[in-house]
Amino acid sequence: ATPAALVAGAGAGARAGVLVRDIEALERAARVDAVAFDKTGTLTAGRPALVAVEAIDGDGPKLLALAAAVERGSEHPLAGAVVEAAEGQGLAIPRASNVEARPGDGVVGEVDGARVAVGGVRLLAQNDVHTAPIEALMARHAALGRTVVAVSEGRRPRGVLAFADAPRPGAAEAVGQLRDDGVEVIMLTGDSAEAAAPVARAVGVERVEAGARPADKLAAIARLQAEGRRVAMVGDGVNDAPALAAADLGIAMGGGADVALETAGVALLRPDPLLVPAALRLARRTVATIR
Ligand code: ADP
Ligand code: MG
Repeated sequence: ATPAALVAGAGAGARAGVLVRDIEALERAARVDAVAFDKTGTLTAGRPALVAVEAIDGDGPKLLALAAAVERGSEHPLAGAVVEAAEGQGLAIPRASNVEARPGDGVVGEVDGARVAVGGVRLLAQNDVHTAPIEALMARHAALGRTVVAVSEGRRPRGVLAFADAPRPGAAEAVGQLRDDGVEVIMLTGDSAEAAAPVARAVGVERVEAGARPADKLAAIARLQAEGRRVAMVGDGVNDAPALAAADLGIAMGGGADVALETAGVALLRPDPLLVPAALRLARRTVATIR
């Protein structure tokens, strides 16, 4: 190999908004033939709009303030939407303690001595919450393609929050370009299958794995590799870190979590999905030049 050409390729990448960690990452990028995209914050804007607040007792503002209390301690895109909405309505957000993120599931904390969980049904069940009363409510919003999050206080379900998160501009075109280049594209998401479906349709991805925890995303990457694929994983979140590390190439979305950045071989300087096919094309061109 001619290191000069590789360095030049890396330099061209940086100018285009693609930062390559090292020369090996560039060489691995050139061989990628499958790309797994995270959904929330990667294929979607990750700035979800809170479109519904449904409290079981009818007190929506109280539900929102309770959720915001624990979400203030989370760096998840959904958390920002919750806190912003609560602040926008001028609600008094109670103080939460012992806040813990559960990547892929949600966030838990303590508010006024009660354990509060905000996340999917799995998280609530883990906290001994009786989920039956809100499952129908969740299903109704999920059927509309929304991301749905449940809120519990102690063992009582308190209500649901529903979010709409639009695909990023360029996401469909990026998927199209990858496919034109002979690269298989799949979506891996911690979100529900119902919420994932409209996004998958909008961007043109056929293979979707939903309800995936960080370990499930990692397993999906391993399965693709077992099929003989050289896999790039593109993600933005803490929940993507194991998959980013296990992939032949980890690509961190611009503006994502620090841990995603640390585990990736390629960092996108902007949250633009089109930088993914651009990065792979650049890598292939660069490596072809030196052979
Ligand atoms: P993706 O894999 O698409 O990026 P995540 O794994 O980040 O999605 O989130 C998947 C699901 O986990 C969300 O749809 C939500 O139910 C739950 N979740 C994760 N983090 C949070 C949070 N901070 N607040 C509420 N729900 C969360
Ligand atoms: Mg994400």
